[in-house]
Amino acid sequence: MLRKKTNGVARRPQRTTLLSEAANATVDRRAFLRGSGLAIGGLAAIAATGGAVKPASAAAGAVSGNVETIKSVCTHCSVGCSVVAEVSNGVWTGQEPGWDSPFNLGAHCAKGASVREHAHGERRLKYPMKKEGGEWKRISWEQAINEIGDGMTSIREESGPDSVYWLGSAKHNNEQAYLFRKFAAYWGTNNVDHQARICHSTTVAGVANTWGYGAMTNSYNDIHNSKAIFMIGSNAAEAHPISLLHILKAKEENNAPVIVCDPRFTRTAAHADEYVRFRPGTDVALVWGILYHIFENGWEDKEFIRTRVWGMDQIRDEVAKWTPEEVERVTGTPGEQLRRVAKTLANNRPGTVIWCMGGTQHTNGNNNTRAYCVLQLALGNMGTTGGGTNIFRGHDNVQGATDLGVLSHTLPGYYGLSNGAWGHWARVWGEDPEWLAGQFGSITGADGKEKSLQNLTGIPVSRWIDGILEEKDNMDQNDNVRAMVLWGHAPNSQTRQVEMKTAMEKLDMLVVIDPYPTVSAVLHDRTDGVYLLPACTQFETRGSVTASNRSLQWRDKVVDPLFESKTDHEIIGLLAKKFGFADRFFRNIEMEDEVTPNVESVTREFNSGLWTIGYTGQSPERIKLHMANQHTFDRTTLKAVGGPADGDYYGLPWPCWGTADMKHPGTPNLYDMSKSVADGGLTFRARFGVERDGDNLLAEGVYSKDSEIKDGYPEFTMQMLMDLGWDGDLTADERAAIDAVAGPKTNWKTDLSGGIQRVAIKHGCAPFGNAKARAVVWTFPDPVPTHREPLYTPRRDLVADYPTYEDRKFYRLPTMYASIQKNDFSKDYPIILTSGRLVEYEGGGDETRSNPWLAELQQDMFVEIHPRDANNLGVRDGSQVWVEGPEGGKVKVMAMVTERVGEGVAFMPFHFGGHFQGQDLRAKYPEGADPYVLGESCNTAQTYGYDSVTQMQETKSTLCKIMPA
Ligand code: SF4
Repeated sequence: MLRKKTNGVARRPQRTTLLSEAANATVDRRAFLRGSGLAIGGLAAIAATGGAVKPASAAAGAVSGNVETIKSVCTHCSVGCSVVAEVSNGVWTGQEPGWDSPFNLGAHCAKGASVREHAHGERRLKYPMKKEGGEWKRISWEQAINEIGDGMTSIREESGPDSVYWLGSAKHNNEQAYLFRKFAAYWGTNNVDHQARICHSTTVAGVANTWGYGAMTNSYNDIHNSKAIFMIGSNAAEAHPISLLHILKAKEENNAPVIVCDPRFTRTAAHADEYVRFRPGTDVALVWGILYHIFENGWEDKEFIRTRVWGMDQIRDEVAKWTPEEVERVTGTPGEQLRRVAKTLANNRPGTVIWCMGGTQHTNGNNNTRAYCVLQLALGNMGTTGGGTNIFRGHDNVQGATDLGVLSHTLPGYYGLSNGAWGHWARVWGEDPEWLAGQFGSITGADGKEKSLQNLTGIPVSRWIDGILEEKDNMDQNDNVRAMVLWGHAPNSQTRQVEMKTAMEKLDMLVVIDPYPTVSAVLHDRTDGVYLLPACTQFETRGSVTASNRSLQWRDKVVDPLFESKTDHEIIGLLAKKFGFADRFFRNIEMEDEVTPNVESVTREFNSGLWTIGYTGQSPERIKLHMANQHTFDRTTLKAVGGPADGDYYGLPWPCWGTADMKHPGTPNLYDMSKSVADGGLTFRARFGVERDGDNLLAEGVYSKDSEIKDGYPEFTMQMLMDLGWDGDLTADERAAIDAVAGPKTNWKTDLSGGIQRVAIKHGCAPFGNAKARAVVWTFPDPVPTHREPLYTPRRDLVADYPTYEDRKFYRLPTMYASIQKNDFSKDYPIILTSGRLVEYEGGGDETRSNPWLAELQQDMFVEIHPRDANNLGVRDGSQVWVEGPEGGKVKVMAMVTERVGEGVAFMPFHFGGHFQGQDLRAKYPEGADPYVLGESCNTAQTYGYDSVTQMQETKSTLCKIMPA
């Protein structure tokens, strides 16, 4: 289908030629697209719609040659690169990278450089469709909303609100993500979640439980100050390409050694000074193997540990077991190499630690993330510029969607699901808490008492298929999931595709809301009950987006919604109206029409409630001011030097404390005590009490600059202000607002005036207290991070020493561990299977495989096999092979024979879909909406396995067998 372009003609001259022609002639939209090289089959798709699809608004208008530039943000990863779109008469004609952006400095990777084609995408869904009698039929929005709404209402009446699952998206902007979580609350379920569950949930849980907040502590730019860069499970060169700008700057200017630990010699590893290969699934053993040398040689930062860390002695006891010999036995990495790594880290401080999904997607992923944190605590690398844990998030707004609470275990701002948390949000929404509670179902607990499902964590996205397939008597809800809404979610990014197909076929109703049909449209053999609703891309609306470093940026709308697509917030409005709660849902929000909320007004509503993480100071006006003045921000510190945002940090990285009027500048590096809190400094959060086993959990005699309390202190409450004699600093309005919540018991998280935060900061204190980080999380299954063999391990000799967990039930579902690991699959499935990203594609790949410029670059799904394995199996490079997992799922892919992987390890990328167990599903897509490139999803061969705290899926260490096809 695709042809390699060989003439090498750059796009820019093509567009210039086109525009100069356009200045003298009338050019319609088709001519624009054809002239810009886009018309690869896409125009036929338009024709196939019967010609009734709404063209871009400028299609019939004359092109004047006037080009308007509009600033937006790339939609393909969390680096947050600025895109400057060139728009002529409403048609997006060209694009440039943002040269002023401190994040990308005029650079783009292939994905960012081709986002125009993503928005204009000829392979998009163009109008609502429904599958009826095995055929896709075009329907109106009105019919779609009515039928979907009526169907869901029936399911709700028969089975309760939890039988409808709302799967949201890291592609939504912050405003849409917030409305989505609020919508699930008004519908009456916690069966709501999004991709963060399956990319960094173990990071969020592990990191937040170590020192307070579950996010990247520093920034891409702050890496400029690093003296060493330690990367584990991160292939940033492909997953976050522009981050390499910052990493390589430190490597060149600071002579910072780059250490890359990965089972696979990645493109990132190619930049490393030290490449450490280790067996997939042994991160804890590897990190303890490094820490072993640090402790043995006394290289740890003893004063930092004494004053700011609790529990390091227990870590020391565990690490002592990880002698170089034992580490080599478990990880395969020579002890001498790890001694060299330890010495490098000790001699080059501060260093940063970077990790991604190679570390998070494991049954013990929360142990991995905490082990990485402990390494940094031991070295004293936290709370300092150049140090920190720089955790690179995946999707462009996965940080924001996580912060806004599109998760089955929290409300926006990580408020949890307790009655107190619901009470807080009911106050923000102006809602009657009784009415809200009445929307939810209940179950009878083991003690015979009724329990509201409002307070019980919902089913996570990793397990929605079990919500459909599990025996309902085994679940902590009244009935199975009967309707699925996949709203901006690629199902092929999830494991167990064979069971997913069965689950999709068992549903009463499957609703897909997305700019593209996604694999959800074709994986199953359903003939009825499937709806595809076309959502806009982020270039057809406006709103805020949070980059991995916690900075908020604003996207302006580039073009009006194309075809019959609607913005996600309008679709939420349509459903709220259909279900009869639109008036109360939008009661505090300005509306642009009956169902479309004003985006800025939504920002202001979440500003008024997200006190926990300081999403309160980033008003739309402040974020827009930063976007308009990007050039005034320093490219390393991110601080504005003069200009209208003087003193602010770019994008007001959260926490941006207090109200916008307080003008807090944002917090560039978390837990940095060398700055006052008013200027972005911070302490570790006092989140876990003040005492443990008789030990003081608060900081020992250390505090942030300008703090009037010269020691550790707990989180602020109104009572604490009164005890300190600082309550007189509150205004009368603040005092009234505090009294209206809980009087002296009101704390910094529930005070809707922001007065408690303001006064604490006025006295130099962090509203959330000043405590030690905890190296031991006593509330987790493994308080001290522990190595545990994967469920599907080839190392049967290690199972007795390092067994997995016992089976248990959490997040409403039975979850298997030991009952899988007790079986030896390694004889029949001897090769370890791992997965990862490619630079050309993103996520499940529907958007990027539908983009002609990207699709051209990578047309075949493949598996990497070591030459020794390939030769032993009789597999030649470029030949077709079957890769089969121990649960029976198998994929037919091309073999790439390469030493990138070690012996006994195979790697597959996870962006492909549209083939299933050797079958090409292209004919099942709606006509003209099939991605250019299809291929097997690696997750068809991937297996069961979920993190012991968050239900993160295991995709990095399972087993397979490979056979010539
Ligand atoms: Fe930048 Fe990421 Fe977009 Fe590439 S995909 S241009 S690195 S934001």
